[in-house]
Amino acid sequence: MDCDFCNLPGVARWKYVLSPDRPVVGLTNGAGDAVLFDDDGIWHACIACAALVDREDMAGLIERVCRALGAVLPLKDTEHRQTVQALMVGQYSAVMQSTTVKLRA
Ligand SMILES: [Zn+2]
Repeated sequence: MDCDFCNLPGVARWKYVLSPDRPVVGLTNGAGDAVLFDDDGIWHACIACAALVDREDMAGLIERVCRALGAVLPLKDTEHRQTVQALMVGQYSAVMQSTTVKLRA
C-alpha cells in the first residue's frame, strides 16, 4: 500500500481511520465554485509520515510531502504552492484529530 501522504509506493505500515463526522476539506474560487476533497476517511502512512502525524508536526509533514511531490507538482509557483499547502493543512488537521484511530496497515 502506498503512503497517502508522501506517496512513496508500497511503504505504508499504518492507517489512520477518521471518524465518520470528519470535516470535509474544499477549495472555493470566490465566484461560488467549490471543489470538495472528500475521501474514504482512511489515510495510509509510512513510518516517517506516521511519526510526524503522531507528533502533530504539521510543518514537518508538509515539508516532507512537498519534497516528495516536488517532482510531479509545479510547486515553484508560489500561489499554487500556497493553495496546495493550505489544502494539506486542512486534510492533515482532520487526520490529526483526537477521534482518529491508528491501526496497523
Ligand atoms: Zn509517507
